[in-house]
Amino acid sequence: MRTVAGPGIGGGSDLCRRWAYTWAGKVRWKGRRAEAAGQQKQVRAAGLEADVSHPNGIELTSPKGEQRGFVEPKLRDGRPVLEDLWVMQGSLCDLKCKHCYTASSPSNDTLQQIRFNELRPHLDDARAFGVQKIYFTGGEVFVNEDVLRGRAATNEDFLASLEYALSIAPTEILTNGRRYIRNHYDALAGLFRQHGDRLRLRITLESFLPAEHDAIRGKGTFAQTVETVGQLSAMGWVPIINAERPFLGVLTDEEIRNGFVELFEKQGVKVEINLIENILEMGHQLVRLGENGGAPSPEVFITTNCFQTLNKPAETLMCHYSRCVQKLGGRIRFYPCPVIYNEERFDLGGTLEESFRRVYLGHKNCYDYCMKGAGATCRTQPLASSDRSVVPQA
Ligand code: SF4
Ligand code: SF4
Repeated sequence: MRTVAGPGIGGGSDLCRRWAYTWAGKVRWKGRRAEAAGQQKQVRAAGLEADVSHPNGIELTSPKGEQRGFVEPKLRDGRPVLEDLWVMQGSLCDLKCKHCYTASSPSNDTLQQIRFNELRPHLDDARAFGVQKIYFTGGEVFVNEDVLRGRAATNEDFLASLEYALSIAPTEILTNGRRYIRNHYDALAGLFRQHGDRLRLRITLESFLPAEHDAIRGKGTFAQTVETVGQLSAMGWVPIINAERPFLGVLTDEEIRNGFVELFEKQGVKVEINLIENILEMGHQLVRLGENGGAPSPEVFITTNCFQTLNKPAETLMCHYSRCVQKLGGRIRFYPCPVIYNEERFDLGGTLEESFRRVYLGHKNCYDYCMKGAGATCRTQPLASSDRSVVPQA
């Protein structure tokens, strides 16, 4: 793993080598090299030779000749299996948050809304490949052009997709929980009666302090979202509050959990809390960085050794067990995960079956989001519920 100079970015330091130059590191470095050599033998024995070139043009070798790290799809008895399916419902949103990595807004339709009849065959495929959880995200999943422009009260396509998804696997909706989910309460209440907490709702609050949330999401949004959480709780749900650690300063897990728990305890509302460890330098966040006098961090080249060096086995990464379906330019495409979109180099094909192939970790987000520090995942992993007991992870 090394940092490489990108367009407009200064050359970075070589993280793997910097670690190796310490005295203790030298000893461990030798061990690592032996380990890596052993792994290369295993890779060859398993017929998993590195490709010579990438069909979509990802550089497979660093300027120093190191091999790019890659992740194979999860297999069972030699057949691909899918754990999580992510459905990107589009980049249309009623908000325009300052950090939004999809650059969503009321006018951005780069990621297009997926109609139910377009999604249905892919949900059937997901069932055939054993999907265990289906996530819907965006953009704001409850809006489409008609809802946003006041021509329709509800997003019927989304509701049809949701109902069908629930017939296949536990399903989770990521929403800003602000205004448009409320038009859908009747439909959601019906789904809750039928499926109970097989349907979960994950709602983002940037902080338990209104001013910190509103500074990112817009004036008044904190109060609206907190009110929605209370209404969903009254309907029977335990909403999942989603927060991003980089916006919460130096607070510990415990302090973050207590902050949110106390906010909702006052209203008698029980919630679970999900923390995302890293944020993405994409979309509106790039503009925000620039406005604050910052610049994106240099891109890190992930080598085959990085999984050991950073203690992140390939099997723990979303591209091993997930796929993400997106609609771009009128076509349904599959991507390795929901943090990469609309970049042909990472397009894995038009069907799930085609998408089950090796993923080279050649995107800036591979290090920034998944490998850096404690590593992040989009999968929900609740810290704890607000009854202060630990929630077992799925
Ligand atoms: S972060 Fe979520 S709510 Fe905010 S603009 Fe992006 S998609 Fe919309
Ligand atoms: S961003 Fe993460 S999950 Fe996506 S391809 Fe890169 S390492 Fe895999």
